[in-house]
Amino acid sequence: CSATRLDRFIRAHSSFPQSAVRALIAQQRIQVDAQCAHSVQQVVTPFSRITLDGECLQDGRERLYMMLHKPQGVVSATQDAQHRTALDLIDHPHKDQLHIVGRLDINSTGLLLFSNDGAWSRRISLPASRCLKCYEVTLAQPLNASAVAAFAQGMYFAYENITTQPAELIIHTPYTATVSLTEGKYHQVKRMFAALGNRVMRLHRRSVGGLSLGDLAVGQSRLLTASECLCLA
Ligand code: URA
Repeated sequence: CSATRLDRFIRAHSSFPQSAVRALIAQQRIQVDAQCAHSVQQVVTPFSRITLDGECLQDGRERLYMMLHKPQGVVSATQDAQHRTALDLIDHPHKDQLHIVGRLDINSTGLLLFSNDGAWSRRISLPASRCLKCYEVTLAQPLNASAVAAFAQGMYFAYENITTQPAELIIHTPYTATVSLTEGKYHQVKRMFAALGNRVMRLHRRSVGGLSLGDLAVGQSRLLTASECLCLA
């Protein structure tokens, strides 16, 4: 279910040996996405439509990109023995192909992304992509203005021996704020506030990159538009 070389694909999906593929390409008998194949090393994926002598060897999956407005109490998983999963809330005939892109904790709410396109998910999730995630938080203790500088400086997490990237904290009221991060470490927002002696009571992801929930109701999902996919990766 992942990327592979064309010659290996042909060996696995036809009666031709791998060594015959160079000749098949030269004779223009293999097409990938309606173009003549050009190399034995050409990379094909589950999304490629591949024909040999006009016969379809693989139809090519549709690429899926979806968002869910995650409610509280749902785990960011595709299966779980105890809890309802985020995937349970998705309504799509090919939902079994989907994986989650950037989890939210069970009690967190907001924008959760799904895709069947691993390359897209990796691009978004890579620290180098610096994809900004914005969270609305409600805290147990009143916020101190010094927290803004602590978030901006980065915080040391001894467990992973890392210092977080600079993050923006905007304080709205003593108990509410917006946090904007470019990373997604485990429980990162909660741990950053915990390091300052505070506790997150409510956490809602408002946006990822240029993408936000808009008026999508809690528990509802929808496909992303082509321009939404492009704006993220
Ligand atoms: N940070 C957290 O602590 N929890 C989330 O769900 C997301 C970011």
